[in-house]
Amino acid sequence: MTTAPQLAPADALPESLVRRLLAHATAGGAPAVEVFAPATGRKIADLPQSSTADIEEAFGLARRAQRQWARTPVRERAAVLRRFHDLVLAEQDTILDIVQTETGKSRVHAFDEVGDVAVNARYYAAEAERLLAARTPRGVLPVLTKVEVRHRPKGVVAVISPWNYPLALAASDALPALMAGNAVVARPDNQTALTALWAVDAAERAGLPKGLWQAVLGRGREIGGEVIARADYVDYTGSSATGRTIARQAGERLIGYSLELGGKNPLLVLADADVSAAAKIAVRACFASSGQLCESIERIYVHDTVYERFLAEFVANTRALTLGSALDYSYEMGSLSFQRQIDTVAAHVDDAVAKGATVVAGGRARPDLGPYFYEPTVLEGVRPGMTVYREETFGPVVSVYRVHSDDEAVEQANDTAYGLNASVWSRDTERAREIAARITAGSVNVNEGFIAAWGSVAAPSGGLGISGGGRRHGPEGLLKYIDTQTIAVQRALPIAPLPGMSEALWAKTMTLYFGVMKALRQK
Ligand code: NAD
Repeated sequence: MTTAPQLAPADALPESLVRRLLAHATAGGAPAVEVFAPATGRKIADLPQSSTADIEEAFGLARRAQRQWARTPVRERAAVLRRFHDLVLAEQDTILDIVQTETGKSRVHAFDEVGDVAVNARYYAAEAERLLAARTPRGVLPVLTKVEVRHRPKGVVAVISPWNYPLALAASDALPALMAGNAVVARPDNQTALTALWAVDAAERAGLPKGLWQAVLGRGREIGGEVIARADYVDYTGSSATGRTIARQAGERLIGYSLELGGKNPLLVLADADVSAAAKIAVRACFASSGQLCESIERIYVHDTVYERFLAEFVANTRALTLGSALDYSYEMGSLSFQRQIDTVAAHVDDAVAKGATVVAGGRARPDLGPYFYEPTVLEGVRPGMTVYREETFGPVVSVYRVHSDDEAVEQANDTAYGLNASVWSRDTERAREIAARITAGSVNVNEGFIAAWGSVAAPSGGLGISGGGRRHGPEGLLKYIDTQTIAVQRALPIAPLPGMSEALWAKTMTLYFGVMKALRQK
């Protein structure tokens, strides 16, 4: 059974820090809400909430700051991101305390967020100048038509982020938007607002002009529409159900949007896999942030010939995970983040068991550790008709299935409306890559769970199907925040018949020209 060392509970955040961070929120026009630390139940803050007037003010300030920022050379913007990178690493103890206190997750999982923000800041600081440089494609008439494609920031980008990876999802999407010359109005989740406010605070200390990164506070259902109504682009991370609402609202205004939604991610253990390595890394991939990770693995398909060995090692590793709530690295997994989360986890496990599944590890809430602790749980015998078979649990629950061929594994992996992340294990990486290409997911990790693809921030990350169509990371993660503008200058001769030339001769001449261009293999 999961071991649970006696650990000191998470402590309260210093009042002076909370006050300093709250000063960054454009809020107070609506009644405050109380926010509690999930691991201990202790109150963190009375969180001021934003009224419509506050939101209006935030967008006004952001719009004014953006006009100046758009004229700031990209190199100067990049210098701000580099200093932000250094601050995040240097002040990691503070931000790790805040993330842990607000989410209940373990420090090792909170550190993933620090790493994510640092590498995104580094990547976009290094790449933005190249990505934002004007291009000069060939004109309709070479030499005579001079074409330039310029990049224009969208204006004010709304970043609506959830509570599960509050630093990574608030900051790592805001950084490329800022680099591209936009302002950002953030609407972080109430549960984790202080984390997002710390990012704003750190960015301003790194030299970001005041007003450029605004934060408004409130429940998504209550203020989301007001935020989208004023934004020039919406970046949303959360459930697929809410994603549909966001898309409708953005579509109504004909503004662009990027949706990073849910997942029901599969991991495939092929017959020739390094079973011990798979059983070790799968534990990290299933239970990071107590499974409250969009990329986390909820389904494992194991080839019949290695099934027993994989299951035995995976279950042993899962049972060995330590649970706790201290603000240090002394344990591996923390708490879930609030009541709805533990209710969903318990409902999925209870439904599966009632319909014939077997719990082979965990399967219990742990109120002795804190109000929302639930043991990392492995299920066997899950079948269609059980809730957990198809629905995202978004908690520490994984189902293990036996398969008899690669084709069956791929077919099962693709039996979902989601398509966010997947993992394939094989000693033959060429074969694994071929299998990976057959899986309907935005990212597939070979011999890794999720970090190889997620951490490689030069490559895009995002979902297929109902996991959303947006992309973060890579060039795509920045270019979504700009519009292109094509400026074409016609020189010397017009694109029209010359004086005295008939339209018929013009058409003939152009037909000849098109044929020559094709023969010369010109684009
Ligand atoms: P949720 O959709 O209920 O809430 C997510 C956030 O959206 C919350 O902060 C909420 O306040 C806000 N929100 C809700 N209704 C809104 C509205 N009408 N307008 C604006 N904002 C609104 O989802 P949840 O269950 O709290 O979050 C977990 C989900 O997020 C999971 O499905 C998970 O997979 C997904 N997620 C996806 C990614 C990704 O990158 N793909 C990352 C993290 C989480």
